[in-house]
Amino acid sequence: MSKAPQSQSPWTARILTLFPEMFPGPLGHSLAGKALERGDWAIETIDIRGFATDRHRTVDDTPFGGGPGMVMRPDVVDAALDDATRDGLAPAIYLTPRGRVLDQALVKELSAGRGVVLLCGRYEGLDERVIEARGLMEVSLGDFVLSGGEPAAIALIDAAVRLLPGVMGAEETLEEESFESGLLEYPQYTRPAEWCGRQVPDVLMSGHHEKIKAWRKLQAERTTQSRRPDLWAAYQKRLAQDGAGQNQKKGRAS
Ligand code: SAM
Repeated sequence: MSKAPQSQSPWTARILTLFPEMFPGPLGHSLAGKALERGDWAIETIDIRGFATDRHRTVDDTPFGGGPGMVMRPDVVDAALDDATRDGLAPAIYLTPRGRVLDQALVKELSAGRGVVLLCGRYEGLDERVIEARGLMEVSLGDFVLSGGEPAAIALIDAAVRLLPGVMGAEETLEEESFESGLLEYPQYTRPAEWCGRQVPDVLMSGHHEKIKAWRKLQAERTTQSRRPDLWAAYQKRLAQDGAGQNQKKGRAS
């Protein structure tokens, strides 16, 4: 994906939806909301219904071949996508349980671009032909079925916006978070030092930065190993590759 070109317009989330009133919703609050007010990013909604051509403003129809529910019409969605991509904003993403599951790597890639066009499905989803014809990227929030793409759009935008320059206060906070190093985060504690008979681990009260760092790394590794064997395997593979790379460099230098 290309880097953001030099332009004045901020990172933009352009959302195609049948429910524009759902936005900015939670994105108008806290970190994302303050960044929105500052103009660090922008949100635009496009009402898909505005592209219906009949007097009933129909956006869906029954599925060919039978079956329950309704399907969003390709002609209406295609016209809405024409409008959403008029200035070349990309990628255009269809939020769907069939898509690549959203992860931090994809969030980073998306936040490094100009923005995203997000198409929120409803009913039984979109006519397949518009997905093919427009080459839509398909992204899922996870292995479950939402009633519409809007909550998935909100989650994706929230994750991307907090990575934009200047949105989070301390850059170090980002570096230590879950997934940044391929590991889940270590456990966090704050005051009081004793609560309901539970103590904060001594090492965190020691003021010994190296020991704290080592303890946190160990905790992050243990949590990842026990909760997410998939991440743990990928982490170990990367360590092995890094180790092999270092050895090769040493071999060349000697
Ligand atoms: N019939 C579809 C299926 O079985 O895959 C589910 C359609 S769902 C009721 C309606 C819309 O919600 C979808 O078109 C999609 O935009 C959105 N949606 C549902 N689950 C999602 C998920 N896990 N990730 C992203 N979007 C989702």
